[in-house]
Amino acid sequence: MTSRNDTLFARAQTSTPGGVNSPVRAFRSVGGTPRFITRAEGPYFWDADDKRYIDYIGSWGPAIVGHAHPHVIKAVQDAAARGLSFGAPTEGEIEMAEEICRILPSVEQVRLVSSGTEAAMSALRLARGATGRDKIIKFEGCYHGHADSLLVKAGSGLLTFGNPTSAGVPEDFAKHTLVLDYNDAQQLEDVFAKMGSEIACVIVEPVAGNMNLVRAKPEFLQAMRRMCTQHGAVLIFDEVMCGFRVGLGGAQTLFGIMPDLTVMGKVIGGGMPVAAFGGRKDLMKHLAPFGPVYQAGTLSGNPVAVAAGMATLKLIQAPGFYESLSAQTAKLAQGLSAAAKDAGIAFCADSVGGMFGLYFAPSIPGSYVEMMACDKAKFNTFFHAMLELGVYLAPSAFEAGFVSAQHDDAVIDATVEAARKAFSSLS
Ligand SMILES: *Cc1c(COP(=O)(O)O)cnc(C)c1O
Repeated sequence: MTSRNDTLFARAQTSTPGGVNSPVRAFRSVGGTPRFITRAEGPYFWDADDKRYIDYIGSWGPAIVGHAHPHVIKAVQDAAARGLSFGAPTEGEIEMAEEICRILPSVEQVRLVSSGTEAAMSALRLARGATGRDKIIKFEGCYHGHADSLLVKAGSGLLTFGNPTSAGVPEDFAKHTLVLDYNDAQQLEDVFAKMGSEIACVIVEPVAGNMNLVRAKPEFLQAMRRMCTQHGAVLIFDEVMCGFRVGLGGAQTLFGIMPDLTVMGKVIGGGMPVAAFGGRKDLMKHLAPFGPVYQAGTLSGNPVAVAAGMATLKLIQAPGFYESLSAQTAKLAQGLSAAAKDAGIAFCADSVGGMFGLYFAPSIPGSYVEMMACDKAKFNTFFHAMLELGVYLAPSAFEAGFVSAQHDDAVIDATVEAARKAFSSLS
């Protein structure tokens, strides 16, 4: 019997490049046919062949309360019935902004947008507009969406500016982006010592989740805060993934470090297109309509999307929400590590709040270079074995995983049981 996933994938490739609307979905890294999803509920989703999977991508983070949570669905239905979009302000947007400012200690004002890419791009423009400087610093392995200035990798030397990682990004844009090593505080200080007065901003994932999971060293983030303050540069925490995920108050609360601007997305939309950037009032005032930094969006603060986001923000503030989410995620990481150990596989796992990393390596990687040394072939075999057993992991060795509040003990146990079989097929 041919799989309906295969049929759909073949059909999709005729009308859409690669058959997908975002590249990682295409399974290019792990091989095989992507699963076309028909519905989702709680910790599960079902593919076009009606096979059920325990879902560990959670829409890449947003599904933190579990799929199709009744409160979120009700909020969306109610909002939709009142009209889909007005192009004029709504009270819901004020509530959402107030809620975000209340939850994130460094955020005094916020602007809503529709994607993390848009939020990061706008935060960069704001930092450049407010400082009157062009140069930015980012770190290898961090992802901040696909704006031109951010699709850049390291140049040949420490002080050489970057090279585009995508065709279509002019060298003239990439030359303003300096790409440094994640978790290397000394290198960052050296660069600021040489050219601190030219740097508009430093942008970082304060818990990295786009090169698998890498924890920032506290001294790395502290050095960043110190350098930015000393040299008048804007510190931007990209918390699109780790915000409302490693804990309610994001990485800034976890580390006790206040960025000047924060970029948000994923969880704050609860599965709908909401993202945001915000921070110090004296920076945010540079934005249009008051200030000279232009930024706008037809569907920004869309009422239906905001309703989904607000319902999600309410649910994650239930007492004990993050204690329980963190405990379940840690239980998963420990269970997988133990299963691998029994099978004699060089493997480890780590988790922060509701996100986790799986590494086919003898110890937990702390840098981009260490991460690249993980055994990608072993991951791919493991991925397909787990998929067959009904567990959907991120289809790449270099992505973090996500647990939802609906991943209860039975779900975690079933996952670890599947992993025992998958690991034993590897050894
Ligand atoms: C997902 C992500 C983005 C981009 O968000 P989109 O909504 O996909 O544009 C930016 N930064 C980080 C850290 C992300 O994880």
